[in-house]
Amino acid sequence: MYVNITEEEIQKIVQRVVQNVISNDSSTTTSQPKGEWGVFDDMNEAIEAAHIAFLKYEEFDIQDRKRFIDAVRQVTLDFKEEFSRMAVEQTKMGRVDHKIVKHINVAKHASGVEFLRPQAWSGQHGLAIEEYAPWGVIGNISPSTHPSPTMLENIISQLSGGNTIVFNPHPVAAKLNVYVIQKCNQYITKEGGPENLVTCVANPTLESAQIMFGHPRTKLLSVTGGPGVVEAAMKFSKPIVAAGPGNPPVLIDETADLELAAKEITESASFDNNILCIAEKEIFVVESVFNQFMKLFEEQGNVKLVGSQMDQLAKKALEKNGQHYFIGRDYVGRNANVLAREFGMNLSEDVPLLFGETDKDHPWVVAEQMTSCIPVVGVKDFEEGLECSIKAEHGFEHTASIFTRDMNRATVYARKLKTDVLVINGGSLRGNGGMTGEGYFSHTIASPTGQGITNPRDFTRRRRITTAHANRFI
Ligand code: NAD
Repeated sequence: MYVNITEEEIQKIVQRVVQNVISNDSSTTTSQPKGEWGVFDDMNEAIEAAHIAFLKYEEFDIQDRKRFIDAVRQVTLDFKEEFSRMAVEQTKMGRVDHKIVKHINVAKHASGVEFLRPQAWSGQHGLAIEEYAPWGVIGNISPSTHPSPTMLENIISQLSGGNTIVFNPHPVAAKLNVYVIQKCNQYITKEGGPENLVTCVANPTLESAQIMFGHPRTKLLSVTGGPGVVEAAMKFSKPIVAAGPGNPPVLIDETADLELAAKEITESASFDNNILCIAEKEIFVVESVFNQFMKLFEEQGNVKLVGSQMDQLAKKALEKNGQHYFIGRDYVGRNANVLAREFGMNLSEDVPLLFGETDKDHPWVVAEQMTSCIPVVGVKDFEEGLECSIKAEHGFEHTASIFTRDMNRATVYARKLKTDVLVINGGSLRGNGGMTGEGYFSHTIASPTGQGITNPRDFTRRRRITTAHANRFI
């Protein structure tokens, strides 16, 4: 059969076929996946949407970036109570009033675009400038222990670096995290920003995490969590900022201000029921001041348990995986009075901590317990305390602290522990800047990959641009 067809019609057909081929090729797709303010059913779509958003975000300048980040700070302040209540309802961890403080800290102290000041060199060969450039889409894992503060702080820091972000949130807090992302996108677009600067999947799973880790569009991984997830993410050969577990020891020697130590450790270790990775997890006290410290610690409102009660609670709360003790999910971030009910003790809700004497290898010392019960161990002298601290820290090189008036000992302690955060004569939370300490603050302390307390520069690539034989201004 012979069909009469004009040249113009042939051109239209060819154009339609080419269009179809392009839109079926996922590597060049330009169609916008449909989500609800950044939330997608499928991880591939969430990544694609964040990629398209990145292409648009690149066209904005640094002042625009700052405006969008200020919008995220505003979300953090506007919803601090609601996010905090939702976190406690969904995870059963921590205290609402302390979580509100964490949100204020993020809104006011999370570091922003000011960290991206370029460096420049000029001389006989011309001018060279080094800038902090974005990676593109960052694949992000957030923990259950601070679901909204970590997410919001990471959004501020990583958008500051010019990136867009796809999250695989913790399943326990997925509803809250979805809500946080929707609010951020709503506030950002109101400021004229692109849609989907931050995306996630509505129902995160281990499989969706694997897709995110391996996807060619995620150029950098940012992972905050326990040893399992850090190990899983590090199997992928791609750049990573990994914020893993800690088990911060604190050593009190015979020269220390014991009252100060009792007060500071109480405030720091009881904050949000000890779920911060940076909070004190075991206390070593030199024997000559041990009893005095125990008395002062009790005077802070903490409730002392006898050895058999510490053992009984450890049997219930701590589990063993091979050689490693860890805390069971049902006991993470519980109030002291809730833990005390386990052996029929009736305490008030505002008791900061339970504490009791144990030996140096007790499961309470070995485990990263992240709850309102802290072991206290007597040690012969500073040297034994140093040895015990190194062992209890498990080589995570995360956080440690010491109370002493002897600065030589403090120096030795810092040099031997080699932790990212080392606090002298203060609660260990003070080591993370923000509201209670000097320096900038972050919820992501990347010990395994060496960035320490992260800032926006850690989520950028350095690029040097040189003009040869030109632009030598002086
Ligand atoms: P977690 O390891 O249980 O979960 C973290 C995230 O990893 C979750 O989203 C979880 O679903 C996911 N995950 C777990 N195993 C995985 C795997 N094999 N593959 C893919 N995804 C996986 O941690 P958590 O209980 O939510 O958080 C507490 C831990 O996080 C503690 O160990 C704490 O020290 C650590 N943490 C560290 C920092 C830091 O800055 N270094 C900050 C907060 C929390």
